[in-house]
Amino acid sequence: MATERTLSIIKPDATRRNVTGKIIDKLESAGLRVIAQKRVRWSQAYAEAFYAVHKERPFFNDLVAFMTSGPVVMQVLEGDDAVATNRKVMGATNPADAEAGTIRADFAESIEANSVHGSDSAENAAAEIAQCFSEGEIVG
Ligand code: GDP
Repeated sequence: MATERTLSIIKPDATRRNVTGKIIDKLESAGLRVIAQKRVRWSQAYAEAFYAVHKERPFFNDLVAFMTSGPVVMQVLEGDDAVATNRKVMGATNPADAEAGTIRADFAESIEANSVHGSDSAENAAAEIAQCFSEGEIVG
């Protein structure tokens, strides 16, 4: 398996409920290492740019409002097949469909307030990491 990097975001519903540590424990227990991390409050412009791929979706405005409603914790994760490993530990987008023991099964409130973001391909991971972190902030 190849060592890979992916972008993770702990979303405002999870920072509000003070469960960032419990979520990071699940990531680390799955073999992922946090090699960059920062807690920030996204502006509307930042959220719109990050989710530009969803611009035409009916939930876009709600998603931007949600992602700017409180702090987020952005992370670069490194590990074997990090993109797929992270997606597996996150669980399905809709928590009602998420496998038992996944982050979304245990913590998500709804299909929108689903506690975590994770890149869905190596290409998107590279682009999202570059969007959120400078090289000097990533310490492998
Ligand atoms: P992900 O890769 O599993 O995060 O899912 P997507 O890329 O399809 O969607 C991005 C984010 O948009 C999700 O994580 C949710 O926060 C939100 N989202 C997805 N589908 C819906 C929906 O049907 N309604 C609402 N309100 N939000 C959604």
